Amino acid sequence: MPHYYIWTIGCQMNKAESERLASHLEHLGYLPAEPAESADLVLLNSCVVRQRAENRVINKLYALRAFKKAHPGAVIALTGCLVDADVTTLRKKFPYVDYFFKAGDSPQWLAPAQVLPQRPSPATFVPIMQGCNNFCSYCIVPYRRGRERSRPLQEVVCEVKELVRRGVKEVTLLGQNVDSYGHDLPEKPELADLLYELNAIEGLARLRFLTNHPKDMSSRLIDAIASLDKVCEQITLPVQSGDNEILKAMRRGYTAERYRALVQEIRHRVPELAITTDV
Ligand code: SF4
Repeated sequence: MPHYYIWTIGCQMNKAESERLASHLEHLGYLPAEPAESADLVLLNSCVVRQRAENRVINKLYALRAFKKAHPGAVIALTGCLVDADVTTLRKKFPYVDYFFKAGDSPQWLAPAQVLPQRPSPATFVPIMQGCNNFCSYCIVPYRRGRERSRPLQEVVCEVKELVRRGVKEVTLLGQNVDSYGHDLPEKPELADLLYELNAIEGLARLRFLTNHPKDMSSRLIDAIASLDKVCEQITLPVQSGDNEILKAMRRGYTAERYRALVQEIRHRVPELAITTDV
């Protein structure tokens, strides 16, 4: 039986994608490698949002040169935000890496498929969209993960039902800008519509979603949080800065006043809600 090893760094989206890739590999007959050096397939899921993360990925890639020399038959693949549409530079720099594929893509060199985690943890992540249209001035995500692409509402509902059947109790819906879910779909459902549908699934205990964008968070979504019993009273709402000039330079699309008003509206509707933020 071939063995695989997946190394992941970065956001929850990367973690969710690695979990799905692992299930896909197990579906194809691979087993988890223990220790990592015994793997026939090594997959790195990378992040370049911060320099420190990028340095760790680069170090890991250089370390794999010796591994490939000692195990020439092993396959090394790289995915995540280090992989751009043009991989010429990466190929030159890391010639011993066999495959590069973009974050969220199905690896075509394996049988492509969407495979749900076989043994999901009771609290699991479900990506509901890929990409971002915002182009905040400091962020690489839209360049690496592309424009927003939402998954059809019913597809997500069926997937969550199946995950609940496999033992999941809590689902966190993921999107780089989860509040703009659905605008690219023909029927233009909103995140609130998806929450109403998911809340009705028997056996599911809790729902969460991230990451919110103060520019796109709607009153309908706040109503859904207030009225749905399974939606946790906790959200992540990145402020990024309290200074309007900085917010403008960051191209965030809101002001400090708009952020405060939004928090006030949320507090008014859901007084118990815990708000976490990024600065
Ligand atoms: Fe990056 Fe988030 Fe801004 Fe999109 S909204 S560009 S993911 S920081």
